Amino acid sequence: MSDRKVIIIGSGPAGLTAALYTARANLKPLLIEGLEAGGQLMLTTMVENWPGFRDGIMGPDLMTEMKAQAERFGTDIIRGDVMSVDLRNRPFTIRLGDGKTMTADSLIIATGASARWLEIGSDRKLSGHGVSTCATCDGYFFRGKPIAVAGGGDSAMEEAIYLTRFATKVTVIHRRDSLRASKIMQDKAFANPKIEFIWDSEIADISDVARGEVTGIVVRNLKTGTLTQVPLDGVFIAIGHTPNTELFRGQIELDETGYIVTRDGSRTSVPGVFAAGDVQDHIYRQAVTAAGSGCMAAIDAERYLEGLSVAVEATDAAAYSTGPQA
Ligand code: NAP
Repeated sequence: MSDRKVIIIGSGPAGLTAALYTARANLKPLLIEGLEAGGQLMLTTMVENWPGFRDGIMGPDLMTEMKAQAERFGTDIIRGDVMSVDLRNRPFTIRLGDGKTMTADSLIIATGASARWLEIGSDRKLSGHGVSTCATCDGYFFRGKPIAVAGGGDSAMEEAIYLTRFATKVTVIHRRDSLRASKIMQDKAFANPKIEFIWDSEIADISDVARGEVTGIVVRNLKTGTLTQVPLDGVFIAIGHTPNTELFRGQIELDETGYIVTRDGSRTSVPGVFAAGDVQDHIYRQAVTAAGSGCMAAIDAERYLEGLSVAVEATDAAAYSTGPQA
């Protein structure tokens, strides 16, 4: 006997939509919201591409509404750090950081993805001391100062544009000579007089680890190898994300970049385990696609559980009909 029919790990748009749907299907889901509750939208300001909000909605407000909606239909939400899962035995077991364990007949994984670092040593050492992966969290600290943004995708452009509210100048360092960002974001960034670009280059080092604050960067031109010192006060890293799948490694199929492989909807390589949102999507990675896949995972889990109960009923009926003669 399991504690729950469905446990959902993760509380971004994918997890909360899965919770809403499984709650409305009367499956009484438990959602474990993790230490970064609400996912990446908690680090966003105005969301303008969530359908239904003509004038946009603030990311944290959207997540507050989604959580309240999931709870309204009976989702139990707990905060906890999942330390390990056992997907080899049934019911599945989930162990939390405080030592508690719980079991479930089905599991929906919606653990999302985390910001990537440059991995040059000084970036992590100066994290919180002038280096950040979240412009909306930390941009305010750089009023009247020059800063850099690493990356050439939509995130980097969004962060660069947002940071011009505070910074005197935003220098985008990109490793190629063209951006990956969408046309509309490129146009906005190119039109912003506070944004400058350094092309074909990477941040080789961030100074000054010894002083515990950012005083500048060393930029390496990847075509010529030339190193240039650029004095500035902050560095924002926006070079993409890594899926949060370490917990499941070795128990479930991952692709070569660590994303969970889903087939036939949200089904993973383990029957009864479903995945939704950025943890299994390296292509679309939008809040609305995450929510859509959360809905799919809920419906897939519901059908899986129906199949389980039919199988149990059939076994019970067989036992009943054969029992008296045995
Ligand atoms: P992304 O599209 O994967 O872009 C990552 C960028 O970082 C790329 O320009 C990449 O360079 C660069 N990069 C990667 N590793 C690097 C390294 N080690 N050193 C230096 N540069 C590195 O990631 P994203 O910008 O976070 O966007 C993810 C998804 O979310 C996309 O689908 C995007 O459209 C979406 N998104 C949309 C919005 C919006 O619509 N407002 C906002 C944010 C994100 P290369 O180009 O050379 O690969």
